[in-house]
Amino acid sequence: MMDLGGFDTEHINKDLVDARICVTRRVLPLFKRGNQLFCAVSDPANLQALDEVRFKTNLVVNAVVVEDDKLGQAIAKVVETTGQKLSSMVTEDDLNIDVEESTKSLEDEYNPDVDDAPLVRYLQKILVDAISAGVSDIHLEPYERFYRIRYRLDGQLMEVAQPPLAIKDKLASRIKVISKLDISEKRVPQDGRMKLVLSKNRAIDFRVSTLPTLYGEKIVLRILDAAGVKLGIEALGYEPPQRLLLEEAIKRPYGMILVTGPTGSGKTVSLYTCLNILNQPGINISTAEDPAEIQLPGVNQVNVNDKAGLNFATALRAFLRQDPDIIMVGEIRDLETAEISVKAAQTGHLVLSTLHTNDAPATLMRLANMGVAAFNIASSVILITAQRLTRKLCVHCKRPEEIPPEALLQAGFTEEDLDGSWQAFGPTGCDACKSTGYKGRMGIYEVMPISDEMRQLIMRNANALDLADQAQKEGVKNLRQSGLLKVKQGLTSLEEIEAVTNE
Ligand SMILES: [Zn+2]
Repeated sequence: MMDLGGFDTEHINKDLVDARICVTRRVLPLFKRGNQLFCAVSDPANLQALDEVRFKTNLVVNAVVVEDDKLGQAIAKVVETTGQKLSSMVTEDDLNIDVEESTKSLEDEYNPDVDDAPLVRYLQKILVDAISAGVSDIHLEPYERFYRIRYRLDGQLMEVAQPPLAIKDKLASRIKVISKLDISEKRVPQDGRMKLVLSKNRAIDFRVSTLPTLYGEKIVLRILDAAGVKLGIEALGYEPPQRLLLEEAIKRPYGMILVTGPTGSGKTVSLYTCLNILNQPGINISTAEDPAEIQLPGVNQVNVNDKAGLNFATALRAFLRQDPDIIMVGEIRDLETAEISVKAAQTGHLVLSTLHTNDAPATLMRLANMGVAAFNIASSVILITAQRLTRKLCVHCKRPEEIPPEALLQAGFTEEDLDGSWQAFGPTGCDACKSTGYKGRMGIYEVMPISDEMRQLIMRNANALDLADQAQKEGVKNLRQSGLLKVKQGLTSLEEIEAVTNE
């Protein structure tokens, strides 16, 4: 396998690049020798991609196998330099909204009085634009005098279109049909799922929810991009020593690993990334989730359903009767779930879960406050990571920022940090980042293994401050310190880190 990270994509002959083929078929021409063209693919069985390139270039095509995440990044980079927008590249052929058998019959019954084709194209454009822009949610909102579509990009909502008010019901019906919702029911909220097939190898799931508002149904589409999760642990933003600690912990045969942070801090993605690494044919993995956000083939995923009596605790008990190796519990929020999780971790299983706390030491206190005995906490938990998502500075327009030494010290930098060996950057704003100065997000982490000293502190019912002191002694970087590292690396601004780690 070739390492695409060491390949300079600037040297790629842009005439060989057909952006549409690259993106939809996940292939990238690298270089030409005589009539031989060498193309990067992550899946050597992706013959359709190689065929299309051969047809397009009339060259003999050779596959070079590379890592999937690096291929995706390289394609994005090369395509960007060709100056084409992804939304205009994706042709009708590439875009078939997946209509499964059960919806087909629904669709036949759904008989709109006008020709739907322009509406379908419009919806596809909204979805594809959103995917190519990397947004997380799409909001379609009817008001009395206007209809608005907003994208949430890197945590911020922005308006992208005001289509004619007249299409609001048709668009809502269309989405509800595809998502298998009841189109005649407009007075109660509904939720469902739909799938957009971009190519044979790439489909994107959306979670769909409707809400009856004063002037019609508001619809929010959450993009559940499994390919985004596949990016792998290197893309999540762990500092190398933190990543090593996490990788060591998930390779342990038993114990409990907890991921903590507020809603929207990327906990689920971190957990899925761990599960992806652990997902091997010889291992039985079961997850209880509320609900499962991303489907992982090979993992037994269960949606909890409180109304039907299937909560985290009952799901966990059932898992333990099914010969599990690894268990993931969406969230520990009550003593019953906590105690079964602890017991599973003590009896030879690896348990992954999340808690809603601010930092790693506070997580231990939360378990104690729930009523878990100190001994059980000390003998089950092996590692806790706390995390936040921060916006990354736009690489096209970030500018050096002079920050007075006093302000740096105030923010948490040490005297040694002020050695003049690095430069702080701040946001500016350009077309590439839609004038926000930021593009993309990354995680910052506190990765705290539970050492023997920490176990003893837990047994002595130490408080969160004592535990935090001990973590500092052992060299664990807290969230602020990890964030300041990203400032030193020029990846984000000091104001952004201060905003996300101020609590
Ligand atoms: Zn910019």
